[in-house]
Amino acid sequence: MIVKDQGIVLRTVPLTNTSQIVTWLTADGGKLATAAKGSQRPDSPFLGQYDLFYTCELLYYARAPRHLHLLKECTPLAPRPALRRDWRACAAASYAASLFDRILPEGPADPALYRLLDDTLDALADRTPGPAFLPRFELRLLRTLGLAPDWTRCARCRAPLLLPGGPGSGPAAFLDARGGRLLCPGCAAGGEGRGELLPLGASTLAILAAITGGRSIPPALPAAVYRELRQAVGLWLERHADVAPRARNAALEILEAPEPA
Ligand SMILES: [Zn+2]
Repeated sequence: MIVKDQGIVLRTVPLTNTSQIVTWLTADGGKLATAAKGSQRPDSPFLGQYDLFYTCELLYYARAPRHLHLLKECTPLAPRPALRRDWRACAAASYAASLFDRILPEGPADPALYRLLDDTLDALADRTPGPAFLPRFELRLLRTLGLAPDWTRCARCRAPLLLPGGPGSGPAAFLDARGGRLLCPGCAAGGEGRGELLPLGASTLAILAAITGGRSIPPALPAAVYRELRQAVGLWLERHADVAPRARNAALEILEAPEPA
């Protein structure tokens, strides 16, 4: 059966000396892998038609689910050349594509995930990302996967965490890293946390709740808020999406490096 779909290239690996396996996140078919036979020959019709971070229209011969499909035709819809010139944007795009590749099993996926990655790559091709770009993207991904926490209530006693006028002094909540839940100061002090407790200020909680709720946030965040945001989302990804921190830290360090003069 021949299938027509739109897809974003997540990864390419050699299949033979002259052929590649291309892993896609597609609009209709979810995550799938196709063989691009002869794509590395100098006269291949596939030359320049797909590459990392491209959104393409593709035609492929579908084989049994979770088998290697056969790529027949491919036309770039959005090649995003800026991602090949801007190394910060390239680092963020690499991390975003690899995160989708790691988190999603092959097979059908919520089309909202395809739209999220397409929008994320468009935004990165449009302008150089600041450091807060990645935690914001990760929270949107967690929300789309249904894995984002409720940042407004204690997971144990359900007490609201964002009170008008703020919590006074001290953290507004604690992220229980091992238990993978958010606790109010009372429950955290009562020994409910099962491991390391990450304190979160009221401003950070408000930012986390705003991003998760799909609301916009200020482009520049205070350093302390950014640090807590980075740590909280990293812990949540590790605990709930089984994402190892190494690739994430590498991408974040590139975005946090000072702008060259
Ligand atoms: Zn509580």
